[in-house]
Amino acid sequence: MSDLISTSACEQARRVAEKSVSAAELCDAYLARIDTLDSELGSYLLVDHEGARAQASAVDAAIASGDAVGPLAGVPIGLKDLLVTKGLETTAGSKILKGWVPPYEGEVVRKLRNCGAVVLGKLNLDEFAMGSSNEHSAVKLCKNPWDLERVPGGSSGGSAAAVSASLCAISLGTDTGGSIRQPASFCGLVGLKPTYGRVSRHGLIAYASSFDQIGPLAKSAEDAALMLEVIAGADVQDATCSTAPVPRYRDACAQNVKGLTIGITEEMGGHDVDGPVSDAISAALADLENAGAKLKRISLPHTKYALPTYYLLATAEASSNLARFDGVRYGLRCGDDEALEEMYGMTRDAGFGPEVKTRIMLGTFALRAGYYDAYYKKAQQVRTRIAEDFQNAFFEVDVIASPTAPTTAFAFGAKKTPIDMYKADVFTLSCNLAGLPGLSMNCGFDNTGMPIGLQLLGAPMQEEMLLRCAADYQRHTDWHTRRPSFGGQS
Ligand code: GLN
Repeated sequence: MSDLISTSACEQARRVAEKSVSAAELCDAYLARIDTLDSELGSYLLVDHEGARAQASAVDAAIASGDAVGPLAGVPIGLKDLLVTKGLETTAGSKILKGWVPPYEGEVVRKLRNCGAVVLGKLNLDEFAMGSSNEHSAVKLCKNPWDLERVPGGSSGGSAAAVSASLCAISLGTDTGGSIRQPASFCGLVGLKPTYGRVSRHGLIAYASSFDQIGPLAKSAEDAALMLEVIAGADVQDATCSTAPVPRYRDACAQNVKGLTIGITEEMGGHDVDGPVSDAISAALADLENAGAKLKRISLPHTKYALPTYYLLATAEASSNLARFDGVRYGLRCGDDEALEEMYGMTRDAGFGPEVKTRIMLGTFALRAGYYDAYYKKAQQVRTRIAEDFQNAFFEVDVIASPTAPTTAFAFGAKKTPIDMYKADVFTLSCNLAGLPGLSMNCGFDNTGMPIGLQLLGAPMQEEMLLRCAADYQRHTDWHTRRPSFGGQS
């Protein structure tokens, strides 16, 4: 069983379907690991022992009676606690939502349950997904299984730590400016942020609605492909959700990189990349070249403005999205119901953490009457330019490669100011500004044994291209098979 735990979700699904392991056994094995190990790691905010066991038994019963089951049947998964789950507390990592038990199921969660995935619980995150280290979780610390002194990345830190430590087979995170890819990079996983509109945002607590996407964190490209097949697709409950048919993404994983052109540029992230990271990226590009891909220099001249553009637009959207948390309908309420204005103020003051308050203030500032043209409108114009840069580049190349982050996972407390923290996102933000799909995969380790992530960006709806490159790279290398020693994995 311990081998099965650290293997891929695809393998687990196969084993359950062929009845060589039962969904109940698999589920119990993961629950036991969580119960022994997660008090040290901090990746789960809630573990649904009872619900998970019930779901696993239902899968076993269906298989026993010969019913058709979905492709994730019996696979134990974890969900970032920004995804609304019916009957299961959903906190967004914030005190303001503590105790909120949603009366409805988010669309991706519904799809997952329908196809037999076993939901083990809800995973830690930076409060309202604002952060790059999980240090802004208002609930508890989440550590990196590769080194417990370091952050797992953020905001989907729990989603990355849990998969890496094999406390679930695969997880969902969300990515507004890098929150799937950067923690995937810090924890040595594949993280896939789909094209904006590829996956329904229904039941995703909104941070910045024109950026947010849900996507998988997984041990292999094939696992990410499997998860995307299940969660992608049209949804009338999300007006921005595409009706384009969902390909069988696992088929793309069978293809190789021969003849593909990979774009490279220094313009996206500046030059502040740690030596071991840039060395590993160069080596990975050489590997891809050896496997038959061509490298081509490209120019993305406006991506150097991605950081201020993103932090202006995302905070503007956040300030309006978070206005709904006022103590009236959900979670925390402070003060006297009779004094409404005062109740709003006291609830928001007590309920939101410092980073969330900073973002609300920044966003409100940017949207003030009289300043709209100077800030918000200008940033929207730059956003368009960045999207055009990519459009032009994708006439010449199939994917664009870069580091996912300028460094490997940093120590707790290492980023002293918000700006220092924001700079950790230089490579990931452009992708969300342009609405593109982006993937991070492990391409080596630094001299302290921390994983390094290679980022691949694709043209809109070209997730298959990213998965194809990642899968072929993983056929040629074995970085993705390494596991941290935490929890006795190696
Ligand atoms: N680190 C970025 C931020 O704090 C991105 C977060 C995310 O993708 N949710 O906004």
